[in-house]
Amino acid sequence: MDRQDRLKALGLWPVWRLRGAAMAEPEAAPPEDPPSAVREPTASPPAPATPPSPVSGLDLDALGAAVESCGRCPLARTRTRGVPGVGDPKAEWLFIGEAPGADEDRLGEPFVGQAGKLLDAMMAGIGLQRGRNVYIANILKSRPPGNRDPKPEEVAACLPYLERQIDLIRPKLIVVLGRIAAQTLLVSDTPIGKLRGHVHQYRGVPMVVTYHPAYLLRNPADKAKAWEDLVLARQTMAGLKSGAAS
Ligand code: SF4
Repeated sequence: MDRQDRLKALGLWPVWRLRGAAMAEPEAAPPEDPPSAVREPTASPPAPATPPSPVSGLDLDALGAAVESCGRCPLARTRTRGVPGVGDPKAEWLFIGEAPGADEDRLGEPFVGQAGKLLDAMMAGIGLQRGRNVYIANILKSRPPGNRDPKPEEVAACLPYLERQIDLIRPKLIVVLGRIAAQTLLVSDTPIGKLRGHVHQYRGVPMVVTYHPAYLLRNPADKAKAWEDLVLARQTMAGLKSGAAS
């Protein structure tokens, strides 16, 4: 079965039809901050050293165990299971969502259920398969009750886990799924419609923004835009590989 047949079987064809090969230009780097005025040093006491991240020395297995027993934020009291992430520990592709939902909370794996099936179909559309050169994770490793938006203090408590995962996996490209995840990682309130279509950077890794599969299930008309984002991601990865090979 070729890719078109597979998309037809999933009810995604012809909605996910490539409308053009135009690839958005990478976003220009933001201007540097102007130099601040030089001030005389004051006699204030030195700032306390930043404490080391509690996950800084962990490998992926130890990080998973740490998530399972984590109590760094109140979500530990309401979750069923921690959901650290799943996939190839040397993956070139890293997909990042916002937080586990009810199915993920029950099973301990990100992106299962209907949204997970759609993510699998999205990945298959660009020749990817869960667990093969792909790692999937969320910003929050525990489910917010009722699938509400993450609170800033929860993100602050949990983000070191994702940062450590990125540093260990060292993906070539990140695909961030959904408005909340994109705005959180980019520290921006720009609408997702303006964040997608560009290649951003996160921790030195190129990052492409697209819609969350759960959103696409509710708004199937936007699958065409998601397909454009995936084509941008695929083209960006191809460019990274050809650049590395030359
Ligand atoms: S969301 Fe993150 S910081 Fe909060 S309890 Fe779960 S693993 Fe720990």
